[in-house]
Amino acid sequence: MTKKIITGLIIAILLAISLSSLLTKEEFSLPPKLIVLFILLLIAMVALKLKRYWLRYPILITSIAYLGFYEGSCVCPNGALQNIPLFLATSKYANIGIYLFEIVVIFAVIFLMGNLYCGWVCHKGGIQEFLFRKKLAIKIPEKIDRVLRNFRFLFLGIVLAYPIFKHAKFFGKIDPFKVIFNLYGTTTLTIILAITLLASIFIYRPFCRYVCPFGGLAGIVNSLGFFKLQFNGVCKRCRICENSCFFDAIKTDNTESPAIARSICISCMECAQACPKKVLEEKKIFGKTSRPQKDVGLVEPVKTG
Ligand code: SF4
Ligand code: SF4
Repeated sequence: MTKKIITGLIIAILLAISLSSLLTKEEFSLPPKLIVLFILLLIAMVALKLKRYWLRYPILITSIAYLGFYEGSCVCPNGALQNIPLFLATSKYANIGIYLFEIVVIFAVIFLMGNLYCGWVCHKGGIQEFLFRKKLAIKIPEKIDRVLRNFRFLFLGIVLAYPIFKHAKFFGKIDPFKVIFNLYGTTTLTIILAITLLASIFIYRPFCRYVCPFGGLAGIVNSLGFFKLQFNGVCKRCRICENSCFFDAIKTDNTESPAIARSICISCMECAQACPKKVLEEKKIFGKTSRPQKDVGLVEPVKTG
């Protein structure tokens, strides 16, 4: 709980700082792309609360169409993230308040309700998601997967340090989605894009999984936040939910509640939808606790896809 309080306080302070920097400007205005981003996040929050999980797809499609193809790749929080150290090193950005505000609002949502940005709103995650074919899915061995996921933190370190030492941005050098959304990019980026799109058919969101710096950071905030899944009723431990999570974020060996790797989970709720008994649901921060669990014994794991 102490970690939650400290994280919540940090987010609240950063939110106050970014808001005050925006409000002290002569004219307070947010760019349309940020307004759309926040509206999509808000719809995602309401949809999660009302268990209208199917809304994830229309939200992702809207995001790909508007935030991706119309606005270009740049509303991505990775860009906002790197502008902060760049501002600290060079005082170069008059609009730093907006970038900080974007990041902090997204973190506040993740802290309170899980990683809805990555799972429901991000246009780059969305493109990969729609390319993914369950029937062709390749299972990456757990050990290799765990090692590869650490690359996100390596890139995060570079994205934060590069602007300080080089006074320039780094993320654009590894962001293949610029090529598809902005129709702009080097040959190297075009090759990275081709590999990413091809890999997305077989691996669920490979860029999110192994490269995206913001995804790594969002996972840390999610781990410190309130979003949790629980069994609310009798779990037969058929493991259908486990097999439905192509991010490999869920394990159901525990009888009390499913073990969710929150550093990975993107609140897609595929697991909850897959559960034939519909006993897997989001744990409420306030309100009733779950009904007592009955251990019904292990049944044969069921393979899906
Ligand atoms: S991990 Fe990165 S690319 Fe993937 S959904 Fe999250 S922010 Fe978007
Ligand atoms: S644990 Fe459930 S909500 Fe989280 S990523 Fe996996 S399927 Fe989605």
